[in-house]
Amino acid sequence: MGGDDPRRQVPRTDDMLADPRLAEACSRLGRPLVKQVIAGVQELVRTGTLPPGDVVEESARALPATAATLRPVVNATGVLVHTNLGRAPLSTAAVTALIAASGTTDLELDLATGRRGRRGKGAVDALCAAVAAAQAALIVNNGAAALVLVATALAQGKEIIVARGELVEIGDGFRIPDLLVSTGARLREVGTTNRVAFEDYAAAVGPDTGFVLKVHPSNFVVRGFTSSVEVRRLSALAVPVVADVGSGLLVPHPAIPDEPDVQSTLAAGAALVTASGDKLLGGPQSGLILGSPELVEILRRHPLARALRVDKLTLAALEATLRGPRPPVSQALEADTDRLRERARRLAARLQDRGIPASAVDSAARVGGGGAPGVSLASAAVSLPSAYAAALRTGQQPVLARIERDRCLLDLRALDPQTDDVLHVAVTAAQLSMAAAVEGEAATLNQAGLTRRD
Ligand SMILES: *Cc1c(COP(=O)(O)O)cnc(C)c1O
Repeated sequence: MGGDDPRRQVPRTDDMLADPRLAEACSRLGRPLVKQVIAGVQELVRTGTLPPGDVVEESARALPATAATLRPVVNATGVLVHTNLGRAPLSTAAVTALIAASGTTDLELDLATGRRGRRGKGAVDALCAAVAAAQAALIVNNGAAALVLVATALAQGKEIIVARGELVEIGDGFRIPDLLVSTGARLREVGTTNRVAFEDYAAAVGPDTGFVLKVHPSNFVVRGFTSSVEVRRLSALAVPVVADVGSGLLVPHPAIPDEPDVQSTLAAGAALVTASGDKLLGGPQSGLILGSPELVEILRRHPLARALRVDKLTLAALEATLRGPRPPVSQALEADTDRLRERARRLAARLQDRGIPASAVDSAARVGGGGAPGVSLASAAVSLPSAYAAALRTGQQPVLARIERDRCLLDLRALDPQTDDVLHVAVTAAQLSMAAAVEGEAATLNQAGLTRRD
């Protein structure tokens, strides 16, 4: 650099913004965001990491894909519904529907008459059509909101009878009992941690009872000397039975025979069933309440319903999930294991051709926090040295792998076959970035939030 002060050589931001790619990015991403990226790259020139001539090129490459910081991540963990990765990926039909609804839309307008229409009618109708036993339904923000609305509207100042073994912590420190008590309802716990009998429930029912709650233990299994009481039995009581089935499985599924579903639970006599929309149902974050038309109407009219209502994007995506082709979560659940093995073999062979020590192995996938605890789904994976996990996670296209017995496993069950090419590119890039790290240059590039050219 001829000893010149590198600061003098940093191209000016305004000059850089004249580049057509950066100018276009300003209209797509907003000027402040583009300037922020440019500033980061200019800093590399100042520290002597990047030649001044590369600054426009590098800035164009460092631009984010969208104006939000959330990035798409490939879920190669083998956990089909991964809470840290935003739970269910939406189907193409759902994405198309939500984009179509994202502008102004006939959300609360009947176009035929010009009068006010019922918000969310299409999604509610689709839900009732999918669950024969459901006479009415309401859609709220999430599973927790569904429980809060039911508890507030039906048991505020009253008792909710619930088995001790069903007082579940959902995750991130949130506990269903705390949620219920926060509504002003009182919990009437019956039974013990491992056992509860019909008589325990029957003895607790009284004038103060709001309802009996059955909560599906969706993230743990109790084994040994256990007993619980089925909804069918509880429905003989003189009070409503509300069942929180959690996963949003609408009808029974052969791959997960012990997972409760909405249809069977309503048919067994539950007055209301609550569930999440973004677990096994495979839709957007939402809370579903299905069952008795009288009770659903009480919930719909409660002031809290307004605070828990979902937006048009959710309604559009949920309806399309229900009416459209099988969403990705169902496809993953039903994927043929031999096909997965074949994909793993082919991908491993392609990576070996690039000199990458990859091998195809059998693997065990799980549904995840979304339901079916303890169920193992036969799967296939590409196995790599464990160092690949971090390189894949921090790459241009982040991939989240599973570390098992000191190996980095890319489990294919949660991914559609087209993603195999994405994995191929990501693993190849990870190999390059690790090689670069050995040369000691990757650290600086990472610091600036950049990744190597492929
Ligand atoms: C997941 C779950 C919830 C919470 O639902 P969110 O949609 O996460 O609010 C409540 N109950 C059960 C049994 C669950 O599995």
